[in-house]
Amino acid sequence: MEIPELFNAALLAKLEALAGTPCFVYDEAAIRRQTETMKQFPAPFGLFPRYAMKACPTRAILSIIAEQGIGIDASSGFEVDRALRAGIEPEAISLSTQELPADFGQWIRKGVKLNACSLSQLRRYGQEFPNTKVGIRFNPGLGSGGTAKTNVGGPSSSFGIWHEQKEEVAAILAEFNLTAERIHTHIGSGSDPSVWQRTAHLSLALVREFDTVESLNLGGGYKVARMPDEVSTDLLKIGEPVAAALTAFAEETGRKIRLEIEPGTFVVANAGYLVSQVQDIVNTGPGGHQFIKLNSGMTELLRPSLYAAQHPISIIPRDADGSDRPKEQYVIVGHCCESGDLVTPAPEDGETLASREFPRVEIGDWCIIGGAGAYCSAMSTKNYNSFPETAETLLNPNGDLSLIRRRQTLDQLLSNEI
Ligand SMILES: *Cc1c(COP(=O)(O)O)cnc(C)c1O
Repeated sequence: MEIPELFNAALLAKLEALAGTPCFVYDEAAIRRQTETMKQFPAPFGLFPRYAMKACPTRAILSIIAEQGIGIDASSGFEVDRALRAGIEPEAISLSTQELPADFGQWIRKGVKLNACSLSQLRRYGQEFPNTKVGIRFNPGLGSGGTAKTNVGGPSSSFGIWHEQKEEVAAILAEFNLTAERIHTHIGSGSDPSVWQRTAHLSLALVREFDTVESLNLGGGYKVARMPDEVSTDLLKIGEPVAAALTAFAEETGRKIRLEIEPGTFVVANAGYLVSQVQDIVNTGPGGHQFIKLNSGMTELLRPSLYAAQHPISIIPRDADGSDRPKEQYVIVGHCCESGDLVTPAPEDGETLASREFPRVEIGDWCIIGGAGAYCSAMSTKNYNSFPETAETLLNPNGDLSLIRRRQTLDQLLSNEI
């Protein structure tokens, strides 16, 4: 649904009464559509889809997703704890982490599964849990991310065990009598079926090396179109070459490998909106720019500053006839005292200002930023300039809006100071 259509006067009135601005709105129906699609990813020998919770880890969101039989990919011990506290079954949680906490054993004893992401992690797991099964995350040597900062495979990426270190892996497995049951590769393969075909082949080459492996986890990285000119991943289409590779592998080796996928972006990105208000408008004279200042910014939405990410933005006038105003160009900035707090960078170049055209904007108008469900609320410069963490709301399929996270108070922000 187009932003102005979804954020009609009735919804904005509810939102004002419930949370005010800034706040996030998550559209439950949109999340459910994505999880339904995920469950249809072709997998000839069984599929277990997981949600990469780091994209948006709020309890209410985790519950909606888990209710549909979808597991969890956690990126830290804290995320494991958070998922358990949200009521997720330990067996449904898989931990793939850059930092394995000293007390990780407590989660494993509960039933959480680990993908060892380095040789030292595998050794530590073996020391604590000899004679058991374990998953191994490899870096298959191929990378594909939207930007250098989102690239998670290849020699420039630190994620997973480098694919040429198979002997070292085998030696540690043997030393502790461990059985490799899963192989994990998450390289952020995007929307191109041919890249997924290569990913599947490289990953199956690793599965071939370890004959005890029963399932293959291809991670996430399924891109979605936030802007009208971007292309969303057709999950069923990119799944075709993956399924074909699994079938061919089974015919050749007799091994029927189960598939796991674990998208984050795909599930929530386009289900989330950041709603803020225009709190000031300034200009820098002829030859300069006209700036809209929001009552939110990098404290809620860091992706534009970090990746020059483009998000759809609608301005909804406070007064009903506002859309008849003449159109003008605006640069949108956040509320932080930081020149990098830019909501409208040029595509591919976060340093350059870009403008968008709107009917003349006035202080108090609503600004709705779409594509803000993944890596926005969860990944921001929260509390910079002492702005409190933002409220979050859920738009239920029946049109009700409910508060799922209150706005932080200044007392909470200060509570650990001594
Ligand atoms: C972040 C992450 C994902 C999800 O990535 P998306 O691009 O959000 O789909 C999946 N698996 C692992 C291991 C991750 O770190």
